[in-house]
Amino acid sequence: MAESTPRIATTAYEKCAEFTRNLWWSWHPDVVEIFRLINPVRWRVLAHNPIALLREYEPEEFEQRVLELALQTRIDVAYRRYKDYVARQTPWARQNAGVLGSRPVAYFSLEFGLHESVPIYSGGLGVLAGDHVKSASGLGVPLVAVGLFYDKGYFKQLINANGEQEEEYTNTEVQNLPFEPCYDKDGNRLVVKVETTTGDIYAKVRVIRVGRVSLYLLDADVEQNSKDDRELTSTLYGGDKRTRIRQELLCGVGGVRALRAMGITPGVYHLNEGHNSFATLEATRDRMARCGLSFNDASRDVAQQTVFTTHTPVEAGHDYFSPDLVEEHLKPMREALGLSQRDFMALGRRNPDNPNEEFCMTVLGLKLSRYANAVSALHGVVSRRMWRGLWPNKTEEETPIGHITNGVHAPTWMAQQIKVLFERATPGWSEESIDPAVWAQIENIDPGELWETHFALKKLFVDFARRHYVRQLERLGADEKAIEAAKRVLDPRALTIGFARRFATYKRAYLVVQDEERFDKIVNNPDRPVQFVFAGKAHPHDNPGKDVIKRITAIQRNPRFANSVLFLENYDINIARQLVQGVDVWLNNPRRPLEASGTSGQKAALNGALNFSILDGWWNEAYNGSNGFAIGDGTTHVDANITDERDNEALLDALENQVVPTYYRRNEHGLPLDWIQMMKNSIATLGWRFSAHRMVADYVKNAYLPAAGGVTAKMP
Ligand SMILES: *Cc1c(COP(=O)(O)O)cnc(C)c1O
Repeated sequence: MAESTPRIATTAYEKCAEFTRNLWWSWHPDVVEIFRLINPVRWRVLAHNPIALLREYEPEEFEQRVLELALQTRIDVAYRRYKDYVARQTPWARQNAGVLGSRPVAYFSLEFGLHESVPIYSGGLGVLAGDHVKSASGLGVPLVAVGLFYDKGYFKQLINANGEQEEEYTNTEVQNLPFEPCYDKDGNRLVVKVETTTGDIYAKVRVIRVGRVSLYLLDADVEQNSKDDRELTSTLYGGDKRTRIRQELLCGVGGVRALRAMGITPGVYHLNEGHNSFATLEATRDRMARCGLSFNDASRDVAQQTVFTTHTPVEAGHDYFSPDLVEEHLKPMREALGLSQRDFMALGRRNPDNPNEEFCMTVLGLKLSRYANAVSALHGVVSRRMWRGLWPNKTEEETPIGHITNGVHAPTWMAQQIKVLFERATPGWSEESIDPAVWAQIENIDPGELWETHFALKKLFVDFARRHYVRQLERLGADEKAIEAAKRVLDPRALTIGFARRFATYKRAYLVVQDEERFDKIVNNPDRPVQFVFAGKAHPHDNPGKDVIKRITAIQRNPRFANSVLFLENYDINIARQLVQGVDVWLNNPRRPLEASGTSGQKAALNGALNFSILDGWWNEAYNGSNGFAIGDGTTHVDANITDERDNEALLDALENQVVPTYYRRNEHGLPLDWIQMMKNSIATLGWRFSAHRMVADYVKNAYLPAAGGVTAKMP
C-alpha cells in the first residue's frame, strides 16, 4: 500500500523507487544508464530490472553509491522529467483525440512486450502491443490495456552442446515487477469471475503503469480456483487447446468485466489479433442487459465500437476451437445472449451451416467489429482475399478490411548515441516526431560522424555478443580453447548482418546458407569478410522450426564458418535491442507474402542499419531503390522449393553484387560514402513513417475516432 500512496520523494533512493514503478524509465536510455552505473554486473544478472536492483541496497548504502558516482543530479533530472511526463496532457491528444475523452480505448492483447524484465511476451505480436501502448502514452491517447499475467512467461531458450534448442521455464519474481493491486468501485481487491459449464474461473487483476497508460493483467493464480486453474495463466502459448480457450475467455470476457468493475467505460474496443474476440460477446451481453436490446441490435452497437486487427496470413496463426470446447466454455454466455448453439457457432464460422467447421476467433473478430485492418498494405490485399467469403455480396476490393502498417516505438529502439547525434546536428529533431520534414534534415549530418557513431555502437554490440556467447559456452563446460576463441569471435570491421526473429519455417533462416559453397565464397573473402549473427526461438511444439535452429548452429560449428556465423541464444527484447543497434545490415527473407508486416527491420532502420529484405510486409511499401536493398522482385512460384531456390540465388546475387561492394567501397579517409548516404536515406524515409507514433496516430484518425462516433473516416 505504501507504494501506491507515495510520500514526496526526497532522497535519490526514494526518487528511483518511485519512478521505477512506472515503465517510463525503460524507454529513456539515459535513465537506464543510471542503474547500469550503480552496479553493472548486478544490472545484467538481474535482467535489467531496477526494482530488483534497488532491493539489493539499503537506502543509506544506495545514497552512498550515488554520492560516489556523482549521480544525484541525473537522478533529480530523471525524477523531474518523470513527474512532468505523467502529469502532462499532450497538445497532440487535445487536438486529435479529444473525442475519446473519458471513455478510453480498451486495447486487448494476449501478450505485451514492454521490456526484457517483464516476461509476458513471446515475440513480434507482443512487442507490437508494447510499442502501441508506449506510443499511445507518448501521444496522450486515452487508452487502457488488458492482458494476462503469466508467472512463468514464455520459455527461456538454451542451446545445448548439440546445437539444439532446450526450453526452460522459470518463475517470475512478482515482487520485482512494478505491479499495483486493483480494487473494485467499493474498494475491495478485484477478482473477476467467468462462468463455464464445468465450473467458474477466477482471476485477480493487477496493473502496471506504462507512462500514462495503465496495463491491467489478469492472473488465475487465486485460491478460488481449482488446482489446475491456478496454473491456467502460468505460461504464454503453453498447454493445449483447452488451456488456450480458457485463457482467451479470461482475457476477453474477464477483461471486459474487470474494466467495468473498476468503473472504466471504454469508448472503443481494440482487439489485437483474434485471441481476444470473446471481449465482443461480453460487451454485447452487458449492452443487452443494460439497454434491453436484442442480440442483433446490441452486437451491432458493439461492432460499431470495435476495431479488430488481424496479424497473419499463416493458417496456424489463427485460433480454431471445436464445437465441444466452445459449448463447454461459452454455453453460459450463449444463453445470456439468447442464441441457439447453431447461431452461436455461426459467429465463428465461414459457413454457418457446416456443422464440422470449427469456431475461428478471427472470424468472430471480423464479424463483430466494424473496423478491421491488416498490418501492411500487402497484408491488406492478402487478408481481403483470405476472408472475402465472409462478405458474399462484396467483391474482393470491397471486402471491409483496411490496413494500418505497423511501426515501432522509436524511443525504445533507438540507441542513445544516435539520438544524441541527431539532436545535436538537426535542430528540432526528436525521435517522437512523425513529420517527414523533421527527419529529412538527417541529410545534413556529417557522414564521418554518422559512421563513427555507428562504428562505436557496432563495437559495443560485438562486446555484448562475445560475452553472451562465452556465457553459453561456460554453461556447457566448453574447454579453455573454445572460450578463448569465443572471446574473439566477430570482427567489428567486417560487414555484419543480423537475422533475428521467430524460427518459424516460413521465415527461412536457412535461406542464406542453402548453397553452402557459394555462401563460403562470399563470407570468407579475406578482403571483404562478411559475418552473420542469428537469434530466435522456435515454438516448443514446432519441430521443423527447431530443425532450422539446428541447421544454423551446425554451420556455426563448421570450422570454415567459425568466424562468419554466430547464433545467440535466448532472443528477447534485450538481444533485439543490442542487435538492431549494432549491425550493418538487417536481413529478412520470409516466403512472400507470409510476413504480414515485420517490425524488427524498422527498429534496425532507426539506428542506421540497412534493410536487406524480400519485398514482403512493410518493406514492400518502404523500399524506394535507395534506402536499403531488395531481394528479388516480389514474384513467387507455386512450388515453394523453386521459390526457395530462386530467392536464395537472388539473395546471394544481391549480397555479392550490391551489399558487399557498396559496404567496402571506401574513400581516402576509409569512409564508405555511398553506404552512408543509403543510411541517411533509410533513416530519413523510414524513421517517421514506420514509427509506432505514426501507427497509433493512424489508428486514432481512421479507427478510434470513427468507432467512438466522433467522425466518419474510411480506412485506407
Ligand atoms: C521486434 C521483435 C520481434 C518481431 O520481429 P519481426 O521482424 O516481426 O520478426 C520479435 N521478437 C522480439 C524480441 C522483438 O524485439
